[in-house]
Formats: sequence, structure tokens, C-alpha cells
Amino acid sequence: MTPLQLFDTYERKVRAFEPLTAGRVGMYACGPTVYNFAHIGNLRTYLFEDILRRVLEFNGYEVHHVMNITDVGHLTSDADSGEDKMELGSKRTGMTAWEMADYYSEAFIADLERLNILMPDVWCKATDHIDEQIAFVEDLETKGYTYRTNDGIYFDSQKLNGYGHLARLDVEGLRQGARVQPGERRFVTDFALWKFSPPGEQRQMEWQSPWGIGFPGWHIECSAMSAKYLGDFFDIHCGGEDHIPIHHTNEIAQTEASRGTRLANFWMHGYFLQVGDAKMAKSDGEFLRLKTVIEKGFDASSYRYFCMTAHYRTQMSFSWDSLQATNTALQRLYQLAYDWGEPGEIASGMLGRFADHINDDLNIPRAIAVIWDMVKADINKADKKATLLEMDKVLGLGFADWRPQEREVPADVMALVEQREQARQSRDFTRADSLRAEVAALGFQIEDTREGPKVTG
Ligand code: AMP
Ligand code: ZN
Repeated sequence: MTPLQLFDTYERKVRAFEPLTAGRVGMYACGPTVYNFAHIGNLRTYLFEDILRRVLEFNGYEVHHVMNITDVGHLTSDADSGEDKMELGSKRTGMTAWEMADYYSEAFIADLERLNILMPDVWCKATDHIDEQIAFVEDLETKGYTYRTNDGIYFDSQKLNGYGHLARLDVEGLRQGARVQPGERRFVTDFALWKFSPPGEQRQMEWQSPWGIGFPGWHIECSAMSAKYLGDFFDIHCGGEDHIPIHHTNEIAQTEASRGTRLANFWMHGYFLQVGDAKMAKSDGEFLRLKTVIEKGFDASSYRYFCMTAHYRTQMSFSWDSLQATNTALQRLYQLAYDWGEPGEIASGMLGRFADHINDDLNIPRAIAVIWDMVKADINKADKKATLLEMDKVLGLGFADWRPQEREVPADVMALVEQREQARQSRDFTRADSLRAEVAALGFQIEDTREGPKVTG
């Protein structure tokens, strides 16, 4: 099997993955901001991270997976302006910010479970780690990387050599273009570490600190909590591509200034799901949830499979038609695998090809193509089944548990079945066969019995 190679955004290349501690991988994934439900775009990112974790486990590593929950401090603009999304969400929903955080965290975890995403070993909430965040900011202050404005304590990005390397930011260009004074901030890329509660206003979420009552900036939670649970330098940090220029750039800046590391050995990013031409954004108000997908008659596993048909480093467009098309393929595979019966021996050639692709920077689309090759290959059914079940440790589609469902047969399918029956009666077998194929394409099988055609879905 080809050794595991992963794309590292920091170095902008695919390179061999070696864990920092033999046999063990520390992995931190930026979790949700819990002011609303997750949309299916967010879930694409968590599916990518789940596949990453499963591939690491497939390679024999023990993965220590940490995910944060952002329940304070993420402002409506990633660049530290606007309102706190939590306080705003509280106004919208009528729940307190605390109730809302619990409500949306639970809904998020339920979505992950539906998608068969493996649960992190550690969940950590920003509001449970205020002391750690304050200590981190104090350390940055001692080391001379902070300054105070009238609305908070800011990170002085110009003090840090190489600020913005992850995103290849053109800091010099920004410096020259920065004619407009960005408030009291000294420089456009400086960011808040601690924000003061607005004068005369009591926020729902606020804490005492050495600098005054307020709340932590959005980026500090990830530097502080990842250090607590994974140490100052760990294996993999991941999130969506939008985090590259601001959130992850600033996490790195904080940790580099305080601990002298770039936080993680590998920085990995999942690319966006788009609907039409626009990216799907939670703050737009209208977005597709997993619930919507399920209400349209799809299983959560269909969405999981859909996401696996594109490489994680390409943007992907969502449409109901493409979901339908991939779902048809998946249902066919479920049925085939079910019909393969009890597992026999693993076909090592097929599994080896599959492993080569997943180890090639998680090339799941190619790995899935190997499964379709296996469907056609001259291998006995039991061995196909055993091999597929082994592959499913990475895919997580649940082939072992799938059972055919007695589905109600829609009227248009029944009409095709009747036409086929008539064609058969008049011995037009070519037409009968093509009608059978049409019915199969709609996900139904015809079995001819003595009582007439029996349709199963
Ligand atoms: P948020 O809850 O807004 O902090 O986002 C949660 C995760 O979803 C982050 O890792 C984002 O990078 C990611 N994300 C946001 N929008 C999309 C999208 N349209 N497609 C894929 N991932 C996304
Ligand atoms: Zn983060």
C-alpha cells in the first residue's frame, strides 16, 4: 500500500504524512458557531474531516480528535466588526445566548450522527475555557504582541515576522493600500484578542479580565484549547477553506508569537459546497439543512455519498438532480452488496488499489471507482462483500446494516411495469427489456412470478 500523503496548505504541497508521535495522531477541527443550524455546506466540511480521520485509522493510527464549539466571540464579520453572532441569534430566536448554544449544539451533533460521522474524543466550548484564553492573551501581552484600543486588546500583526504565510497574504501590498484607518486598529490585519463589553451595556456573555469586562476574540479559543488538549505542536489542524485567510492565519499568529510553533504540522482545508453559483452561507438566513434533504426522501447516507463523489480540494455544486443521480448509484450498490450475502475473504488486490487512492491525499472519487470495478470483476460474491466491508471502514456508508426496504411503488413505475407486461405478452422482448431497464433506473426491480410481475424497490 502506498504510504499516506496529504496536502498541506501551509507548504502548499502534497507531502508524506508522518505522525509527530509514533502511532498517534492529534487532530483539531474548527467546529460550528452555534447560532443557527448547520447547513449542508458546513456538513461537507465535517464529512471531509471524518474521511480524513477514518483514513488515518485505516493506516493504523490512533487518532485523538478534538473539536471546538464556538459559542461566543464570532462577530458577523470575520474581521472583528459587527455584532456577536450569538447575541444576534438570541434576538432572532428569543432564546438566551446560553439556551441557543445548547439547542444548536445538540442539533449539530444529531446531524453528525445521522451522517455516521465519528464523534470527536473531546468537545470543547469556548465559554468553558475563558481562563485559558485570558492566560494566552496575558502571555502575548508579556511578549509584546498586543496593544489596547478603546474597544479591546488587539494582536499587533506587524510585530510577527511572516504573518499571513498560510494564506500567502501580500502584507506589503496591504500596507501600501491601507489608507483608510481601520478604526483604532493600527493595521488591517490586526485582530481582537479580547473585546470590551460596550459601555453602558450588559452583554449576555461577558467575563471579568485583567483588561476589563468583555469577551474573547474569535481566534484565541482555538489556539488556547488546541494547546490544552493537543499540545503546542500537533499533527493536523483542519477546517473549511474560508478559514485560510483570517481565522487560521490568526490562530497561527497567536501560537507562533506565544509558543513559537505554527500550531500544526499539517493544515488541511475542505473546499466549499456551492448552490448555484453562490457559496452557501449560514448568515444568509436561507439555507439547506440535512433535514430538508431527508424530507425530500433521501437518506443521510445519500448526502454522505454525494460528498464523496468530489475530491475535498475542489468546490462542489449542489443540485437536487445530482443528488438524485448519485443516490441511484448508491442504492444500486447497497442492493448489490446485500445480494452478495455473507462475507468471505478480502480480495487484497482490490483493497490495495482502494488504499492507494485514499492514501493519495484522500482521493475518494477514485477509490469509489475501484468499487465499481470490483462489482464487474471476476471475484466471488462473498469475497466482494468482505472487501467492501473493509473499504466501508473509510466510507462509512453502512453496507453491513443495509436492508432492502419495502417501498411503495409509484404510479409512473407501475405504468411502466404494465407496459412491459403487455410487451411480454405480445412477445416484443426487446421492448420488454428496455422497459425493465427504465424501471431499474428508477430504483425498482421486476421479478416475474406465476401470479404476475412482482415489483420491489
Ligand atoms: P461556522 O459554523 O460558520 O463557523 O462554519 C463551520 C464550518 O463549515 C467551518 O469549517 C467552515 O469553514 C465550513 N463552511 C462554511 N460554509 C461552507 C460551505 N458552503 N461549504 C463547505 N464548508 C463550509
Ligand atoms: Zn478555529
